[in-house]
Amino acid sequence: MSEQLQKAREALQRYFGYREFRPLQAEVIQCIYDGKDVLLLMPTGGGKSICYQLPALTLEGCCVVVSPLISLMKDQVEGLVANGVKAAFLNSSLSYEEQQAVENDLYNGKLDLLYTSPEKMCSQEFFTLLKAAKISLFAIDEAHCISSWGHDFRPEYRKLTFLKQSFPDVPVIAVTATADKLTRKDIARQLKLHRPEVFVASFDRPNIFLEARPGRKKFEQIRDFIRRRPGQPGIVYCLAKKSCESLAAKLQEAGISADSYHAGHDSLRRSSVQEDFIADRTQVICATIAFGMGIDKSNVRWVIHYNLPKNIESYYQEIGRCGRDGAAAHALLFHSFSDVMTLRNFITSEPSENSQVYQTKLDRMYEYATAAICRRKMLLNYFNEAVDKDCGHCDVCKNPPEYFDGTVTAQKALSAVARCKEQIGTGMLVDILRGSKGYHLVNAGYDKIKTWGAGREHNQEAWFQYINQLILQGLLEVAYEDHNKLRLTPAAREVLFNGKKVKLVKAEILKKRQEAKPEVKPKRERVRDDLFLHLRELRLEIARERGVPPYIIFSDASLEEMAATRPTTEADFAQISGVGEKKLEEFGRTFIKAIEEYLIEEKSKR
Ligand code: ADP
Ligand code: ZN
Repeated sequence: MSEQLQKAREALQRYFGYREFRPLQAEVIQCIYDGKDVLLLMPTGGGKSICYQLPALTLEGCCVVVSPLISLMKDQVEGLVANGVKAAFLNSSLSYEEQQAVENDLYNGKLDLLYTSPEKMCSQEFFTLLKAAKISLFAIDEAHCISSWGHDFRPEYRKLTFLKQSFPDVPVIAVTATADKLTRKDIARQLKLHRPEVFVASFDRPNIFLEARPGRKKFEQIRDFIRRRPGQPGIVYCLAKKSCESLAAKLQEAGISADSYHAGHDSLRRSSVQEDFIADRTQVICATIAFGMGIDKSNVRWVIHYNLPKNIESYYQEIGRCGRDGAAAHALLFHSFSDVMTLRNFITSEPSENSQVYQTKLDRMYEYATAAICRRKMLLNYFNEAVDKDCGHCDVCKNPPEYFDGTVTAQKALSAVARCKEQIGTGMLVDILRGSKGYHLVNAGYDKIKTWGAGREHNQEAWFQYINQLILQGLLEVAYEDHNKLRLTPAAREVLFNGKKVKLVKAEILKKRQEAKPEVKPKRERVRDDLFLHLRELRLEIARERGVPPYIIFSDASLEEMAATRPTTEADFAQISGVGEKKLEEFGRTFIKAIEEYLIEEKSKR
């Protein structure tokens, strides 16, 4: 390890309380020390920020970070200051005087890190100041915003082209969590990076348990899911504003602290919802996709997709918002045909040259949601990371599919569809097979057909599962343009008339899978016992006193480790991941005291 890198490592421990670099961090930092430009692709939560923060802390001068979102800047700077880092931000949310003060600090070399908006960065006055100050490094956060190939193009990012021309000797690091090959090239080209070193981290987020379920009785499922996770913050992503609101309202009725967030609320309301969530005052946010991009909350424990996302890229970015602190997290995805149809309508209602691409991406998303293959394997393969081992940490791995000869089951369903002249949808089909006497069913004369009541051996839930599988296996087709009626495919005729065999996954397995308790194998031992809850209370108190979000004090992962190792000396406390010098000094004694008191009380109970 080079001497410089050694220094970076000391800073990692001293300021952030972390002992080891994560994969790629050391390599990236070394490149910056060597004066090279860097393009870094890492999933959300991978630890990109440290890659420019450590050079910022160890090199002479200030590192200027360009970030697209004002709220993100504020959070990041708050976190840094809590760790004893000389950091500030500069954007239009500050008063004129405040801006002046920050600019003076920059000019006088009093800052190690300065976060700013692209607009500010490209203004003439700021340029003069940058020229006069000592700049160690430029970091471009969310660098995909510069490319129109990316999924979140921001024209103001384009102006950053001037950086490399005006400051040829200052290294630039561009970081992003999402960029395919095309976007990657475009970022380097737009920023005029000089022979950049490109790093692509693994996109795996092993602490996130992956799960997908058919979207039936979603409210009940979600309510139970949350009840099993008391006090754990989470996000439910919905496609429509209306479902955000109604879901939040129903959760509230069920006694869960929930709120909604979408573009229909004004910005004041939005920021107050967001702040309550960050401060752990609201447990659950039901949001449209706009939520989360601007928040840096590391203790989000779960993400639910109420609707199918439009592509795997968005899905992966959204689930990436949970478990950023490395502690156990859960991503639950609901899928249904009606979502596919709604999304298809979006695509066809605004035809563009990319329609075909969008369509294909949607198909891949649906395949992901419904397949019976290790989900992590599918995701990583999607991002061109070849893996052939099953992960052991998703619903499919936990309960691998058990097949049975479903030929007769399939024949019953297919024959009913044929006898109803392909005029029924899934719900009616299930009712017919189960021998229901619903008004519409009887009215249409479906109780007279031969297959009416022929499927009573399977319950309703199971039938929905099986029909879904028949669709996925290409035996049934959904006529999206005609009220989702089911149609027979040529393959179905093979099954009906030539006895072609059909393999189905047992419905009980799929059901069991939904109830499977995720297990996490954390790197270090962590527990969530009474002591953890106690420390969490203490953290909340301190956070309230100081008017900062709780995770700024300590992450959940740090608290879990405290609960597991129960340190009672400062030396032991300093060993906890996330405890740097500043936090040891500020909070060490308070937390140690709480742990000691807890231990005494525990003893007296025995
Ligand atoms: P990104 O910007 O890539 O989404 P962050 O830089 O915010 O991710 O890092 C995610 C979390 O991981 C943060 O809580 C951060 O403090 C933590 N982290 C980063 N590097 C390390 C490390 N070397 N050891 C332990 N935790 C780390
Ligand atoms: Zn798996």
